[in-house]
Amino acid sequence: MFDYIKEIAKLKKEKNAVILAHFYQRPEIQDIADYTGDSLYLSKVARDIDAEMIVFCGVHFMAETAKILSPDKLVILPREDAGCPMADMATATKLKEYKKNNSDTKIVSYVNTTAEIKALSDVCVTSSNAETVIKEFKDEKLMYVPDQNLGSYLKDKFDLRMDLWPGFCYVHNRFNLEDIEAMKHKYPKAKFLAHPEMKLEIVKQADYVGSTKALLEYTKQSDDKQFLVGTEVGIIHQMRLASPDKEFIEINQDFYCRNMKKTRLEDLYNALLNEETKITIPDEILEPARKSLDIMFEITEKNA
Ligand code: SF4
Repeated sequence: MFDYIKEIAKLKKEKNAVILAHFYQRPEIQDIADYTGDSLYLSKVARDIDAEMIVFCGVHFMAETAKILSPDKLVILPREDAGCPMADMATATKLKEYKKNNSDTKIVSYVNTTAEIKALSDVCVTSSNAETVIKEFKDEKLMYVPDQNLGSYLKDKFDLRMDLWPGFCYVHNRFNLEDIEAMKHKYPKAKFLAHPEMKLEIVKQADYVGSTKALLEYTKQSDDKQFLVGTEVGIIHQMRLASPDKEFIEINQDFYCRNMKKTRLEDLYNALLNEETKITIPDEILEPARKSLDIMFEITEKNA
């Protein structure tokens, strides 16, 4: 039988490549990656790593972000069809139109957007740093693109003057209050962890709210032994590895991101071998997109 793990390691060395994997990837992809993490962590790795090739096991906007931050490196997305439906809900045409009618409004874009949207934005945020970044803009008129759930959470928490783009993550948006209440009733001792891409009414029921990375850290440090995990199920792999003595319960095991699960070992091997699919971004988009990411890093690092 073909040994993908051995052959991937061989190709990686030959090509001076690194493999980055998002927390929502399949467990075998997370295990073989050089770096596994959330969007903020992986984008920093992409920016700072010394390698000729980055193979990004995630979705299209993540590989694009790596390319924006590392324009001289070859950035490869193993599955060309691994897109993010939420990112696709914000189009440059519509955002240009909004900007034309709202020239006094700052555009804050979630990193889950295309390079074109980032290029039209004043600043980017990830779920890990959204609160830190948004505080710097709290006196401005704002438009948050594209996740209306995360935007509602920020707007509510900081009492912002902020318009919300009508986008959502189809995975996090599927959670409903009745299911959460039923699970809390079934597991009364479990702590309910929520990602702010879920609806605000659900997030308000959580014992702890945070990005995937923050949720993972919380479970490592907590003395509690049982958790209801309110985000994409992929993170549970890392939670179990970090805390084998604790119990992690999916709210619904069918709530997973189909796009994130497309990449298999075979795809990763073929990506390294054939150096496909290459991410390319025209300079006139790459440079302004880089600026909105750099402002995000600057604010995050200043407040670290
Ligand atoms: S989990 Fe949601 S936001 Fe993340 S890639 Fe999938 S659809 Fe996009």
